[in-house]
Amino acid sequence: MANIDRIQKTFFDLVQIESPSFNEKRITSYLKGYLEKLNFEVTIDSAGKKIGGNSGNLIGFYNGENKKAPTLIFAAHMDTVTPCLKTRPLIENKVVRSNGSTVLGADDKAGISAILEMLEIILKNKIYCGDIEVIFTVAEEKGLLGAKNLDLSKIKAKYAYVVDCEGPIGKIVNKAPSQDWIKAHFKGKAVHAGLYPEKGINAIIAASKAISEMKLGRIDEETTANVGVIKGGTATNIVPDSVKIEGEARSLSEEKLKNQINHMIDNLNSAAKSVGADVEIEVIRAYDSFSLDINDEVVKIALKAAEVIDFDLKFESTGGGSDTNIFNQNGIPALNLSVGMNNVHSKEENISLDDIGKTAEFLVEIVKVAGLRGT
Ligand SMILES: [Zn+2]
Repeated sequence: MANIDRIQKTFFDLVQIESPSFNEKRITSYLKGYLEKLNFEVTIDSAGKKIGGNSGNLIGFYNGENKKAPTLIFAAHMDTVTPCLKTRPLIENKVVRSNGSTVLGADDKAGISAILEMLEIILKNKIYCGDIEVIFTVAEEKGLLGAKNLDLSKIKAKYAYVVDCEGPIGKIVNKAPSQDWIKAHFKGKAVHAGLYPEKGINAIIAASKAISEMKLGRIDEETTANVGVIKGGTATNIVPDSVKIEGEARSLSEEKLKNQINHMIDNLNSAAKSVGADVEIEVIRAYDSFSLDINDEVVKIALKAAEVIDFDLKFESTGGGSDTNIFNQNGIPALNLSVGMNNVHSKEENISLDDIGKTAEFLVEIVKVAGLRGT
């Protein structure tokens, strides 16, 4: 059984350690110490150096007795969105929130807490289990940068359970979209707006034409698109010669994503052409989609574990990306489990300690079931 007092202590410790993206060093060393006390071998990879952060990803390895069981990964991310400095958690009826001046950081310290509680239960009760890898990533909130730079040579697990999903516990994300970023730089011609306007080429007009004619928002039930950044111009008396825009598109279907990106490119090009401007366009793959079902062992294990402890599961697709996409992209089938956090990325973020406890108990059962299936 999960120990709510222990969960509260761990969770409160974690949310009071400041860990904005690229500044995870303090929380990494706390977690390294925690896992080493549980007999984990812990390494920190070099992702931090590659992405300009002060810590790499934490990779913990527990040498389990059951050598026939598949090695499992349990993963969560250590960084939080801002504002996250001097977080003070308040508790009422076992529900924790911040004092209102920062986010709580349950995203994803609740996920970390559930994983640590699962390990405490397994080790204190000497549950017979296989090898366990714990991966706590950095800079997830900055485009999954930690997971993208994870040192895969140190990983041997077959399946991964990521605990980084909001909403009611029991929710499991088994489908998530691919995402492309699109960047465009419109180049016009700068002239004095009062003296020679007819000699200028206005890059703001080109950009606004392109955006106003683009299909954006929800394209269909599987596809979304957005333009989220626009920068350009210097003064009212100058015809602007440079505007940069940044957008994205996501879809559960590769074909629909390709169609949407092509549609955005066509609009950028034709708008530029219509005013005589140039446009440079760059499309970057952010991450690949994944879709897992009942035929996948990672799903079968979760279903069986839920059945044993009578835990309600609800499989869902999401419009968001997470480290789960990157594990799947690297050939490690992975699911994203809810830990019960609510209103993430806001100062109203909250979580129930009971939900962390129930999630931990579900993870314990996943470890037990994987052990049985492996033998
Ligand atoms: Zn998260």
